[in-house]
Amino acid sequence: MDEFHTESAYPMISFERAWEIVAAHVRPLPPVEAGLREMVGCVLAEDVRSQVDVPSFPASRMDGYAVVAADTSWEREVLGEEDAGEALDVVVRPGTALRIMTGAPLPHGADAVIPVEDTSEEGGIVRLKRMVRPGENVRPIGSDLAKGEVAVPAGTVMGPAEIGLVATLGLATARIYPKPRVMVLATGDELVQPGQPLGPGQIYDSNSFALCAAVELAGGMALRGERVIDTEEALRASLLQAIEQADLVITSGGVSMGTRDLVKPVLESLGRIYFGRVAIKPGKPLTFAQVRGVPVFGLPGFPVSSLVTFEMVVRPAMRLLAGHRALWRPEVQARLSHPLRHDDDRTEFQRAVIIRRDGTYWASTTGAQASSRLKSLLGANALLRIPQGVGDVPEGATVTAILIDQPEQ
Ligand code: AMP
Ligand code: MG
Repeated sequence: MDEFHTESAYPMISFERAWEIVAAHVRPLPPVEAGLREMVGCVLAEDVRSQVDVPSFPASRMDGYAVVAADTSWEREVLGEEDAGEALDVVVRPGTALRIMTGAPLPHGADAVIPVEDTSEEGGIVRLKRMVRPGENVRPIGSDLAKGEVAVPAGTVMGPAEIGLVATLGLATARIYPKPRVMVLATGDELVQPGQPLGPGQIYDSNSFALCAAVELAGGMALRGERVIDTEEALRASLLQAIEQADLVITSGGVSMGTRDLVKPVLESLGRIYFGRVAIKPGKPLTFAQVRGVPVFGLPGFPVSSLVTFEMVVRPAMRLLAGHRALWRPEVQARLSHPLRHDDDRTEFQRAVIIRRDGTYWASTTGAQASSRLKSLLGANALLRIPQGVGDVPEGATVTAILIDQPEQ
């Protein structure tokens, strides 16, 4: 390839159309059985039903004495002591009580527990300071979770409470969608690994590290490939290896019109390109392909372009793979603290800081929005979506802010 590429092969499509195409080609990964320590952040693939009642026996809610509630005597003979984990074979009758610890099963005959604070014990006799109601301080069978009940529904993201519930049921595993393995390949002859000396005209590869971080924060397992030099052979070999190892592949660089921009022709030869130009800023040459069933995103080389296109297209695609139902970040309407320049021919995602003042969100820019200026993403907690068809936006106007981080209060 030693000629400039022409763009004519790839019609310009809207951001919305691009997402529709991606959504039509990306399916959740096959569910797997995962252990309790492996499922955090993953989406549950099947309902987890309770096979047992929780608790499975009437259990004491307090440290105290198991008694018969209908008994009206103030003093009762203590039959012994039962700890959590024990199940004593004693029967509590009127005139008797069993010292009982929190979580221990209620003994036969007893129907209530009087807390130790409401008693005093001496010489094997417990004195009650008050009477108790039947059922008081007893957790009935199945009161936390009844047998057959759905404990955690499919589609739930597994957090502490959900994982705790699965464990409560005695299950060591659950069926979840696995975290997508995402291969990140940086392309470019000019790239040097950080830590190495830089030659004339060379730059450090920042994209592969930035994208691996973005993959991890999006709930994926990032695999970082070796830097790929700008030859068709090298790119083909790296891509073929990547689709063997990963559920999704990201390349950075090599998707524009330079003579060394080989990602599109190589993807074309290996699989199918679904789009190669999107009316967005930054990130116009964003490319989406599939190679042997594996989705491949060709992200532009400029650092801001690669991260913004990751955020807007790859992250939701990863969430589709991971079985999430909620794909998008929260959005708020925010007022501009200053006017914005915007060309109406494409949808723009401008990096901004959102603060909330007196119930209103205010957006201010992070400075120059050049695609090469990674600092425009530093401290940004939102991307302002300025739609195609809209021109310059005046100060005070309301725009949609996609929250990529918490807004400041
Ligand atoms: P390309 O689309 O390959 O022409 O890349 C466009 C520009 O993005 C390059 O000239 C570099 O300045 C920059 N770039 C490409 N890849 C990387 C990378 N991995 N890390 C940092 N900057 C990059
Ligand atoms: Mg390049």
